[in-house]
Amino acid sequence: MALVSTVLLYLWLQLPEAGLLPWVRGHGHGTHGGIVYSVPVETKVVAITFDDGPDPEVTPAVLEALREHSVRCTFFLTGVMTVKYADVARLVAADGHEIASHGYSHRALRGVDAETVHRELRRTEVVLERVLGVRPTLFRFPYLVHDELSLRVVRSQGYTVIACSLDSRDWLTPDARRLASRVCGLIRPGDIVLMHDAAGQKGEKMREALDIILEWLHENGYRCLTVSELIRMGAEAGERPGP
Ligand SMILES: [Zn+2]
Repeated sequence: MALVSTVLLYLWLQLPEAGLLPWVRGHGHGTHGGIVYSVPVETKVVAITFDDGPDPEVTPAVLEALREHSVRCTFFLTGVMTVKYADVARLVAADGHEIASHGYSHRALRGVDAETVHRELRRTEVVLERVLGVRPTLFRFPYLVHDELSLRVVRSQGYTVIACSLDSRDWLTPDARRLASRVCGLIRPGDIVLMHDAAGQKGEKMREALDIILEWLHENGYRCLTVSELIRMGAEAGERPGP
């Protein structure tokens, strides 16, 4: 039985890579229930995002790849890692990437009281302000989980809540080429791509994967924007009078 489950799980994990299940690319599309998953645009633009950093090994490797390709992305930093690795956080900001909040402790904000959500937001704001001089306007829920209360609290504090439309599943993919081929095979205009510059990943793998992905995007006429730039472009496109 265990063997059958393992085989089924393995096959399930392979299907998206094979492009056979395009609907398991990510978590949603457009904006639903006050959460932005992707942005409807007519041009080939995407936003690549990194969660859970800064990390002293992985983040510099990611930054190097982005610098080489002259690409700016959005980094959802946690307060706790920013305190621990303030110098690495400063490197992210110095390269002109967009700084966003991923909460302080990375605890799941589902089934918790409003005070806890407020505290997670506030503590992160204080740290990002102190270390980087930045007041974040974008927030991504840890583990992408929330409930009605936590979503209401986050939005009431003026945040735009971001999820993703293409989950790279970099955690599950030890191989750079497979990771890159999943992203390149599934990416669509307006996508918000979820990646991680976090402990547990391999800096070298992320660097190599990003090299392939960014090269592919460039060759295929895609431009990378920060999430805020992508949202602004979507708003402008929506304001244009239709035919
Ligand atoms: Zn996270």
